[in-house]
Amino acid sequence: MAPVQTVLGPVEPDALGKVLVHEHVRIAYPGDHLDPAGHPPRDECVAVAVERMHQVAEHGVKTFVDPCPIDLGRDPELLAEVAEASGMNIVCATGFYHEEIGIPWYWRVRSAEEVAELYLHEIQHGIGNTGIRPGVIKIATADPVGDHDRKVLAGAAMAAAESGLPVITHCENSVGGDVQQDALAAAGVDLARCLIGHQDHATDSGQHVEIAQRGSFVGIDRIGLEILTPEATRVDHIRHLVDAGYGDWVCLSQDHMCCLASPKFPYPIPEGMEEVFEQIEPVAREQMYGRAHSYLFTDFLPRLAEAGVDGAVVDAMLTDNPRRLLAGV
Ligand SMILES: [Zn+2]
Repeated sequence: MAPVQTVLGPVEPDALGKVLVHEHVRIAYPGDHLDPAGHPPRDECVAVAVERMHQVAEHGVKTFVDPCPIDLGRDPELLAEVAEASGMNIVCATGFYHEEIGIPWYWRVRSAEEVAELYLHEIQHGIGNTGIRPGVIKIATADPVGDHDRKVLAGAAMAAAESGLPVITHCENSVGGDVQQDALAAAGVDLARCLIGHQDHATDSGQHVEIAQRGSFVGIDRIGLEILTPEATRVDHIRHLVDAGYGDWVCLSQDHMCCLASPKFPYPIPEGMEEVFEQIEPVAREQMYGRAHSYLFTDFLPRLAEAGVDGAVVDAMLTDNPRRLLAGV
């Protein structure tokens, strides 16, 4: 049994407990540190994160995967501090974000091989000089999947094939999972160690069955983000996958932050929508980072039960399935 690499070192697969496969301690958007308004204090973020870890631990969560990409303010030392103070297993990632927001210039002019070399260096020697090693490879693609995305994706696939580390992906608007699976398969990556993520917004549940049929996990991993998709849609997607016989290939998470570093809202407000947004903004902030990470247990799981999804199958989505993803057993 291969141990899982956490920010405090390797952990045996049977110690993972319930796993939240896609959450965040802190996200910072590129350039937000230049805003004269400044970042919220680091100590405050640690305190919030430690409290959040205690809250999910009460529901049996022992592992919190934070696939924050390199270019969204990834801070492995912050994660180590939170892990030490809370006792939570925290897993961090190597890998760039998608080209609409991420992939810094220098890496746009590098080859896929050079991207793989960077990821493998972090995996083998640690991130920068922190000595902290990533336990997953993050892949993100835009909608539509762009040329820089494809190159970085190819590099990530090489690094995954070489290292054997699991892969967690971001599909903007739930699009591009097929492109990701193609690239991973072409590089010889075991698709059973890949989570094709952010599938919540798919309009057709058939795309989920296709992902699972090819042998990867389907991430319904933006639970609670009703500003993007209503919860009822997520419930339908999950029930559809379970009814089709793919309950073993679903992972649940929330993509919810403990803190947002950006002092102002980090996404553009469409012209003419300013007034509407003013009303939505508090709701958006609550759903992005405001409420406890235990929301999944207190508010969403009861909806799955009401919809008739078997509790044992749901339990596997939070234990056995993510353990197979992370540890391969
Ligand atoms: Zn995320």
